[in-house]
Amino acid sequence: MITTRTGSKRLLRDLNRSIALNLIAARGPISRTDLARESGLPAATITRIAGDFVEAGLITETGSEESSGGRRPVLLTINPGAGHVVGVKLREDSMTVALCDLACTVVHYCEEPFASGIQPYQAVEAICVAVERCIAEAGVSRSGVFGVGVGISGLIDSARGLCRYSAILGWSDVELGPALEYKLRMQVRIDNDVNTLAVAERHFGPGRNVSDFLLVTVGRGIGLGIVVGGEIYRGARGGAGEFGHMTVDTSADAPLCNCGKRGCLEAIASDYGILRAATGEDPGHHVEDAMSALLVRAGNGDTHVRDIFARAGSALGVALANLVNIFEPALLLVGGEGLRAGDLITEPMRATLPQHVFGRSGEDVTLAVRRTTEVEWARGAASLVLREVFRTPIYDTGEEPVIDTLLATHHRRARKRG
Ligand SMILES: [Zn+2]
Repeated sequence: MITTRTGSKRLLRDLNRSIALNLIAARGPISRTDLARESGLPAATITRIAGDFVEAGLITETGSEESSGGRRPVLLTINPGAGHVVGVKLREDSMTVALCDLACTVVHYCEEPFASGIQPYQAVEAICVAVERCIAEAGVSRSGVFGVGVGISGLIDSARGLCRYSAILGWSDVELGPALEYKLRMQVRIDNDVNTLAVAERHFGPGRNVSDFLLVTVGRGIGLGIVVGGEIYRGARGGAGEFGHMTVDTSADAPLCNCGKRGCLEAIASDYGILRAATGEDPGHHVEDAMSALLVRAGNGDTHVRDIFARAGSALGVALANLVNIFEPALLLVGGEGLRAGDLITEPMRATLPQHVFGRSGEDVTLAVRRTTEVEWARGAASLVLREVFRTPIYDTGEEPVIDTLLATHHRRARKRG
């Protein structure tokens, strides 16, 4: 159960720090005067907090802005290099590990293969080795790395760090989060991989100023991240967003889905759906070469292949319209490897969507196509931990607020230098 922290001097201090840090991140470069005005905190409080942050290297004082006469104020910005986090995107036989700074910019990344059918205890070992390797290769101080985020395709209980079910890994009820925390001695957050991308878009992408948006990923499967009121919507048990299995074709000969039913969106618009329609065979795990070959055929004017992409795009458009009708999102982001086909798939998608949006033309839905690489997925996983830095510390998580950890680390280093 999540409990709220009760009133205390410590809570007040943590809240004030969090307010100041979030404002500097959102509005920086910003002067102390503007910070006091926008936060409503007394100038003396702002001066003290900013002093602590500057001393610890968490923020930096930069050049002053133009002012109409008089002394120009010093401006404060977040120092992105003041701390780092690591993100891991797990696939069935490899992982991408990315080290990010406080602005969620990827500083370094590496790829690590492993045998498919990996057992959970072996995966824990492999992830720890890869994380340590990534930190060492990046050349950053390990003590400044305050957490690891992991993104996995499947049903994830993120509050407990539990992988309830992952089809690609063949895992059920694996306590991955606690095992990694024990071995790495740092905080670990795990979540469904599409949710991790949605978190990155929410805090460090176009979702930053939008509290209700949807992210759809098209690729091997079709996923959905739902952001409602600024938070990820997970459903009662973490299984919300199984968008790939929305029925879009009810005809008797509709394509068979991996889930055993016919006419699912995924059976038509995912990589395997498209490849199977083109070749008559199930393509297995690694589809990049086969997809490239298919795109060459489409580029050479093969109408059969072009029609398959068009059907996939139209099916996506119908399914997206259904989502719009249910959620009325301010923003609809569509990404994933499946969009490598470009206009072949996005044009029919954009054309079909407004035809099925209820009550209006559908033109008021902002649809943005996002480029999603393997590194982007790992960056998404990193953002799981990064958002903890900026989270308002009102809940009792049993953990130190991340700002405290960061300040303590930098003070320790400063003492060593002194
Ligand atoms: Zn299905």
